[in-house]
Amino acid sequence: MLSHEQTLGVASSGKYNTYAWLSQRAWVEIDLAALSYNVRQIVKLLSTRTQLMAVVKADAYGHGAVTVAQTALESGASWLGVATVPEGIELREAGIQAPILILGATYTQEQIHAIAQWKLQPTLISPKQALVFSNYLEAINYHSHLPVHIKFDTGMSRLGPSWVEAAEFVQMVHLLPNLQIVSIYSHLATAENPDQTVMKQQQQRFEDAIAQMKAMGIEPPCLHLANSAATLTEKALHYDIVRVGLALYGLYPAAHLISCINLKPVLQVKARVTQVKNITPGTGVSYGHQYVAQRELRLAVVGIGYADGVPRHLSQKMQVLIRGKRVPQIGAITMDQMMIDVSTLPDIQEGEVVTLIGQQGDEHIWAEDWANHLNTISWEILCGFKHRLPRVAFSHPVE
Ligand SMILES: *Cc1c(COP(=O)(O)O)cnc(C)c1O
Repeated sequence: MLSHEQTLGVASSGKYNTYAWLSQRAWVEIDLAALSYNVRQIVKLLSTRTQLMAVVKADAYGHGAVTVAQTALESGASWLGVATVPEGIELREAGIQAPILILGATYTQEQIHAIAQWKLQPTLISPKQALVFSNYLEAINYHSHLPVHIKFDTGMSRLGPSWVEAAEFVQMVHLLPNLQIVSIYSHLATAENPDQTVMKQQQQRFEDAIAQMKAMGIEPPCLHLANSAATLTEKALHYDIVRVGLALYGLYPAAHLISCINLKPVLQVKARVTQVKNITPGTGVSYGHQYVAQRELRLAVVGIGYADGVPRHLSQKMQVLIRGKRVPQIGAITMDQMMIDVSTLPDIQEGEVVTLIGQQGDEHIWAEDWANHLNTISWEILCGFKHRLPRVAFSHPVE
């Protein structure tokens, strides 16, 4: 990642011919001011009882986990959520001290060892796994209680015992030495859906299981259920922690939630024009000649391709922004490069910046637009940008 100064050098000059940027063919820009704004907007929705867990799994949905985690914590988040042990270790190695919940399943002695060593907090999902944890900690004479989180299944059919068995499972873990239950949680399957039937059913199952625990004499220390969509939908789903991913990054889980909160997209994807050429009618473009020029045409080659995370399925379906205007992509997207039709713009120069995802002037293209073309969701688009693209974080708008 470029240093703050290098980044600001670009920001203040507004040109591309500064510092290391000259050599970047393509990159991902992360707007930390937007991220901080989103975190503060989300916190405003929460009552004082509820804490915000910033979900930074999958390298913070492609935004860079350490930078995102630090900014989110400075802006009002108090928990971090990751999917795997190495993701948690990366945050600890960067000096982050906030509690880190591992949302995924962990089983092996190596994982348990790392969890204890790095002060990470695992999710317990079955009696068998809970015993592996407890036995291992006993075997190494673990000197205190490992904080653990219990997950049960209220309708996602993913991790955890069913809601019917949840209270019994909690009681079992409660009795194991070396483990301390910090929270009890479940995950919603349809929170993005305007029809709340399934979500309400899941919430009822959650409530029923908690009531059963209380009847057994176990006072659940801390409860959580909501992802981004549920957090935006209803306060009754907030409980003690909300686990927010997508909304941190400035995207809406569904169109009907746009009115609930104002968010600013954090990530932009940019690349440079590497060559400009005129082609004559009848000239084919790129592999397979899917595109054949019908007229005299000026095309620009752009230094980004499917190996950077631009799905090849977007070939001839996507547009890009250059000089504040939308232009079409033409021909097959190749591994490292793609072609665009710049006939409508005068005198495009090599080195000019093309925005694939982001904003130029009044025009914008967001991950959602790609997701719609590809019949997928914006979560997948964000996670798809490869690490070949340097992540450049800055605190002030670049343009
Ligand atoms: C990924 C994840 C989240 C965050 O979901 P968003 O829809 O991105 O807010 C929350 N909880 C769990 C268990 C997850 O796996």
